[in-house]
Amino acid sequence: MSAINAPSRPVIEALVRSTLAKQLGQEAPANPPTLVVNSSARHMHISPENLEALFGKGAKLTVHKMLYQEGQFASEQTVTLIGPRRRVIPNLRILGPCRNLTQIELAITDAIQLGMDIPVRMSGDIQGTPGGYVMGPKGMLEMKDGIIRAARHVHMSPSDAKFYGVKHLDRITMKVTSPMCNTRFDEMIVRVDPSFKLEVHIDTDEANACDLERVTKVELIKS
Ligand SMILES: [Zn+2]
Repeated sequence: MSAINAPSRPVIEALVRSTLAKQLGQEAPANPPTLVVNSSARHMHISPENLEALFGKGAKLTVHKMLYQEGQFASEQTVTLIGPRRRVIPNLRILGPCRNLTQIELAITDAIQLGMDIPVRMSGDIQGTPGGYVMGPKGMLEMKDGIIRAARHVHMSPSDAKFYGVKHLDRITMKVTSPMCNTRFDEMIVRVDPSFKLEVHIDTDEANACDLERVTKVELIKS
């Protein structure tokens, strides 16, 4: 027979708070979860087959730096993206682990530099998007499609979703307070999964637009 686990301290505190609040005839005061905002620089997601095409048979992604979401990492592997007019983006980093879909996420500034017109899409939704050529140390890859600007989004757990009163694929607004540079990001896609930590992903253009480095406050507001 297994022992009954004692509730952890935060659970006990929440219970005490809600009991007190009930006695006082109030709603339990909710602690806002810690909101992290990160900008994603241009990057590539890759399938195991395409990784082998670029890096040779048996190639594996190796960790350069772990990211905030559990198990996700920036790999040591980089490639060169070649645009339609032979303009290139070198040192394009691959994020790991491998996925079943190969996809490249660029900011609009990157696309302008390449001379490409790219649509805003949610990660994985690549039908009808432009492709390109990718060069690795051991080979070339022709991508028929998969080059997008990733739609701004927020990762959250089911309990965070409950806190904000939203569900998977709802839209939410992020209000950013920054000296001389207050900004709102509407239409932020909510992505809910039990494995997710609360984190907003915007691209480098969006981060620069709100001067993310000097931001003093961020809030998520139900649209
Ligand atoms: Zn994300």
